[in-house]
Amino acid sequence: MFNEETCQRCGTCLEQCPFLQLPIETAKEEISKMIETRNSRKIIKNCASCSYCNAICPTGSNPYALIREIRLKNYRDNGVRSLGLITEDIPHNLMSIALEINKDEKQRELNKYENPPKSSKMFYVGCGIPYCFPDLTQTKLFGDLPLLGGMEYCCGGYIHSYFGEDESKIKGLELYEKFKTLGVEKLITFCPGCDAMIKGVYPSIIEEFNVEGQTIIDYFVEKYHQGELKIKKKINQRITFQDPCPWRNLDRKMYDGPREFLEIIGAEVVEMKHNKEKSLCCGAPLIISNRSLATKIAKERISEAKHVNAEVIAHICTGCLATLSEHATENNINSYYITELAQMAIGETPALKILENTKNLNKQIIKTLSKNPKLIAERYTIKNGKISRL
Ligand code: SF4
Ligand code: SF4
Repeated sequence: MFNEETCQRCGTCLEQCPFLQLPIETAKEEISKMIETRNSRKIIKNCASCSYCNAICPTGSNPYALIREIRLKNYRDNGVRSLGLITEDIPHNLMSIALEINKDEKQRELNKYENPPKSSKMFYVGCGIPYCFPDLTQTKLFGDLPLLGGMEYCCGGYIHSYFGEDESKIKGLELYEKFKTLGVEKLITFCPGCDAMIKGVYPSIIEEFNVEGQTIIDYFVEKYHQGELKIKKKINQRITFQDPCPWRNLDRKMYDGPREFLEIIGAEVVEMKHNKEKSLCCGAPLIISNRSLATKIAKERISEAKHVNAEVIAHICTGCLATLSEHATENNINSYYITELAQMAIGETPALKILENTKNLNKQIIKTLSKNPKLIAERYTIKNGKISRL
C-alpha cells in the first residue's frame, strides 16, 4: 500500500524513474497532484509497472502502489484489451495468437503440460514458454519430473495486474485446487511473473495457499550441490544477469541464485550499474503502447552491460530476453536464457530460437490484428471470476 503519511512529496520517484525522468520540480508537482486527485493520465501512460520507484523511495512509501491504485480504477472503468488476457474464454489473446505458429507441434506439447501425471514436484512452465518459446523446454535438464503449464494453468499475473486482489484471490483459489488435485506441493518456476504470484501474491491473500515455489536457477544450484548436475563445459566468459522486475517484491535472497549458478558454470560475474532490487526494466511492458520509449530503455540497459564489458547477458525472463537480444547483438553481447546457458554447460546444444520466435510472433500479431481490426477496440472486464466484454 502507498503510505501517504510518510511520503515527503520529494519527487525522487518520478524524477529517477527510467521511463518518466521528470524534471524534479515537475516530479514534485505530479506526485502531489496524484495524491490529491488519485489520477494522472501522464504518469499512467508511460509507467511500465516496473516498481523501481519503490526501491529508490527514500522513505519507503511505495509510490508504485499509488500508481497501481489509479491504474486499477482505470481498468475497472474502461476494461482491458484482449491481447493481455490469458484465458481460453477470449478468442484472441497473446497465447492463442502464438499458438497459430507451429500449431500441431505446440498443441502436442501443451496436451502433456495440461495433463501431467500426479507428482508432488513439477516444473511450472506457465503460459508464455509453451506458447511463445517452446524450444526452451527441449532439454534433458528436467529429468523425469512432469512439466505443468498452458493457458489453464496460467499463474494469473494478468488478473493481479489488471483487476486487483479480490479477483486474484478467486483465480488463486481455483489454481490451488488444481494443484492439490495433481498432488503438487512444490513448483519449480521458469518465469519471474509466476514467482511473484506463487511466492508473493497468493500466500499473502490466500491463507491456505501452501504450494512452495523454487526458481529453476535455485533448482540447478541445488542439483549441482547434490552432485546431480554435472558441468561438462565451463563457460569462461564475463556474464551479467538481468534481474527481473517481479522479483523486487520478493525475498532479497532471490538475487543470490543466478550469481551462484553463473559462477558454477565458470563465468566471471559482472554487475551492471543498476542491479538486484535496483535493477532497471528492459522496456518490454511498453513495447506495444510506446515502442520508441521501450527501445530507448532497452538500449540504455544494454549500454550498462557494455560499460562493464559483459560478453553475455543472462536472463530468467523471456520478455527481457526478447526485448534486449537485438540490442545486445548490435553491441557484440550474446543474450541467453539461463536454461540455455545450463544446456551449454552440460554439453547440450540449445536451439537458440528466441529472436526467430519473437519475430514470428510479432508478424503473427500484426497479421491477426489486421484481419480483426476490432480487436484493438474490444475491451473486457472480470467480475467474480467471470470474464465479459464491455
Ligand atoms: S513516494 Fe517516496 S520518492 Fe516519491 S515523492 Fe514520496 S517520498 Fe519522495
Ligand atoms: S513503476 Fe517503474 S515505470 Fe512506473 S513510475 Fe515507478 S519506476 Fe517509473
